[in-house]
Amino acid sequence: MYDRKTCKKFKTPVSFKNTAVAFKNKSDRELLLAYLIFSLTKSPFLVKFLSQAAKFTMAIGLPVKPLIKATVFKQFCGGEKKEEYLNVIGKLGRAAIGTILDYSVEGRQDEDVFENTQKGLLNIIEQARKNDNIPCACMKMTAIGSGDLLEKVTAGKTLSKVEKQAWEKLTARLERICKTACEAGKPIYIDAEESWVQGAIDRLAEQMMLKYNKKKAIVFTTLQLYRWDRIDYFKKLIAHARKHFYILGIKIVRGAYLEKERERARDLGYPSPVNSSKAATDDEYNRAINVFIDNINVTEICLGTHNESSCQLLMNCMAAKDIPNNHPHIYFSQLFGMSDNISYNLAQAGYNVSKYLPFGPVESTLPYLARRAEENTAIAGQMSKELEIIVKERKRRKTT
Ligand SMILES: Cc1cc2nc3c(=O)[nH]c(=O)nc-3n(C[C@H](O)[C@H](O)[C@H](O)COP(=O)(O)OP(=O)(O)OC[C@H]3O[C@@H](n4cnc5c(N)ncnc54)[C@H](O)[C@@H]3O)c2cc1C
Repeated sequence: MYDRKTCKKFKTPVSFKNTAVAFKNKSDRELLLAYLIFSLTKSPFLVKFLSQAAKFTMAIGLPVKPLIKATVFKQFCGGEKKEEYLNVIGKLGRAAIGTILDYSVEGRQDEDVFENTQKGLLNIIEQARKNDNIPCACMKMTAIGSGDLLEKVTAGKTLSKVEKQAWEKLTARLERICKTACEAGKPIYIDAEESWVQGAIDRLAEQMMLKYNKKKAIVFTTLQLYRWDRIDYFKKLIAHARKHFYILGIKIVRGAYLEKERERARDLGYPSPVNSSKAATDDEYNRAINVFIDNINVTEICLGTHNESSCQLLMNCMAAKDIPNNHPHIYFSQLFGMSDNISYNLAQAGYNVSKYLPFGPVESTLPYLARRAEENTAIAGQMSKELEIIVKERKRRKTT
C-alpha cells in the first residue's frame, strides 16, 4: 500500500458526501455511540462541565473509567494496550488508511518523563518499521524537553549552566529519534506548538531536515497557517532545501492555539501573530497548497486538516497537473474519530491517507479528550457537520 515506487493513477471521482464509504468500518452500535457523543458536544457548557467532572471523579477514585473508556475514549483513541490499538490499526489498514500513533503524554515536565517519552517514540518507530499500516510517527518537542527552556531559546535569552545541560539532553533525544526514524525509513512529524516556543522548534527541525532528508523527507516540520508569517517562512525553507539539496518535509495545519495566542499577545502588548479572521487563515492555508504544488520536486507534504475545501483544492491542483492520486510526496491526514467522510473517501480513491491515533491510559488521555470536545464546540459548523453525516448515514441504513 505504501510502496513509494509504484505510482498508479486512479480516476475514481471523490465525494465527501458518500457516508456509506465513510462509515463502512462502523457497526450500527458504534454509529449510535458516535451520534450520542457528537450530539452532547454541541453544547459548550455541557462539554466544559463533563470534562471537569470526568477529571474530578477519576481523581477521587470513583469508578467512571469503564464508562469513559467505552464512550469518548473509544471514539477518539486507539486503546490502552498494544493489542487494542493494533486492532484499530488493522481495521484502518484494511480501508487503506495508515495510522500515526500519537504518544501524547501530557502533564508532568521533568527529565524522567522526557526520557520515557523518548523511549515510547523509539518503540513506535520500531513498530512502524515492521508494520506497513504505520506510515510514520509524530512527536511534540515539549514532550521530550521543557517548554520553559524552548521559550527561553526562542526569545534568544542566555541559558544558565543547568539549562545548557538540559538543552543538550533535549537535542540528543531529538537526534536519536530522527536517526532511528531515518534508519527505519519512516518519517517523523514534528508538531507545531505555541509561537513562543515555536522559534526553537523551527531551528531544531531545520537542522534535522538538513541532516536526514537527503533522499526523501524523513523529518517533517509543521506550519500553522493561522500565523500570517508562515508563507514567507515556507518560501525560505524551500530556497534553503534547493540550495542544500535536501527534501523538505512539511505538515500544514491551520493551528490549534488561536485563543491562547491572541490572549498572550493582548496581555503582553505585542502584535498578534495570528490572522484576524478565519477567512484570512483559509486563504493562507490554500496559498500554502499552491506554493507546495509549484515546488513538489523538493517538498513532501502532509495536509493535516478536516476542511473539505482545502482537501478539494489540493485534489484539483493534482488533477490539473496530472499528478497521480497516490503520489508519494502527498499525504492527507485527519484525527481518529473525526472527518471519516474525508479519510475513507480519499483512501478509496487511492490517495495516501492517515489518521492520528492517540493511545495510552485513559487517565493520561483525558486532557486530549477534553480538548477534542472543547475545540470542536468552538469550531463553527464543524461539529454539526460531523453530526450531519452521522445522521445521514443512520437514515441511509434504516432505509436500505
Ligand atoms: C493530522 C492533524 C495534525 C495536526 N497537527 C497539529 C500541529 O502540529 N499543531 C497545531 O497547532 N495543530 C495541529 N492540528 C490541529 C489543526 O491546527 C486545527 O486546529 C484543526 O485541524 C482544525 O482546523 P481544520 O483545518 O481541520 O478545520 P477548519 O474548521 O476549517 O479550521 C479551524 C481552524 O481555523 C482557524 N481559525 C478559526 N477561527 C479563526 C479566526 N477567527 N481567525 C483566524 N483563524 C481562525 C483555527 O486555526 C482553527 O483551528 C492538527 C490537525 C490534524 C488533523
